[in-house]
Amino acid sequence: MKLRPRSEIGSFFGAPEAYGSSLLGCPLEVWRPAGPCKLLVHAGIHGEEGETTAALSRALRLLAEPSPHCAVVLAANPDGLMRGTRGNARGVDLNRNFPTRDWRPDLVMHRSVPGEPRDIALSPGSGPASEPETQALIRLIEELEPEAVVALHAPLACIDDDEEGPLARWIAQRTGLPLVADVGYPTPGSFGTWGGEQGLTVVTYEFEMTDRDSVATRHVPVLAELLTGVEPWS
Ligand SMILES: [Zn+2]
Repeated sequence: MKLRPRSEIGSFFGAPEAYGSSLLGCPLEVWRPAGPCKLLVHAGIHGEEGETTAALSRALRLLAEPSPHCAVVLAANPDGLMRGTRGNARGVDLNRNFPTRDWRPDLVMHRSVPGEPRDIALSPGSGPASEPETQALIRLIEELEPEAVVALHAPLACIDDDEEGPLARWIAQRTGLPLVADVGYPTPGSFGTWGGEQGLTVVTYEFEMTDRDSVATRHVPVLAELLTGVEPWS
């Protein structure tokens, strides 16, 4: 499909649609595909991982027209991105708020930098899918019915798919990041677990600790291939 010259990639080819609102009233935006949705790529569900939003935005801005098959959500947690927090405006880790069989009310302990102790507490929400951002993403997926979802995160430097399927293997091969079946600690209420329970392929694509140069050279081309090539992994 047609890509734009560099002079035009400062802006998008069109406008997104709102699929809901955040707690603070920010629109939750989706760029819809031209045809049936085979893949959804979302970034920024953890607001302190803004590099994922920047990389996916840059890949999307290469397109001169809607992706034939891929829906794009640049910021699944816009309030967190705006405030630089992992959680949403209520301090909920949205990636522990999905209505899975293993959802737990316990505080979510995390660290923001590898090597630090895992001692920063966030809420998993007052109940499963208590947060508007979680509810809206679930409704969007139920409506789009993608075959697979790629969830962008940082900075664990791995490609996580419990089935180690062809999409995950392709991303691992293209990025040089290791393919893993889990991230090494329990993640109750995570988006990936919820997707698995819905029969959806979910690949968690974790950037490494990165800078803008390596985002541009390592990840933007891979994301652009996902948006432009129909199932480049098959
Ligand atoms: Zn994350």
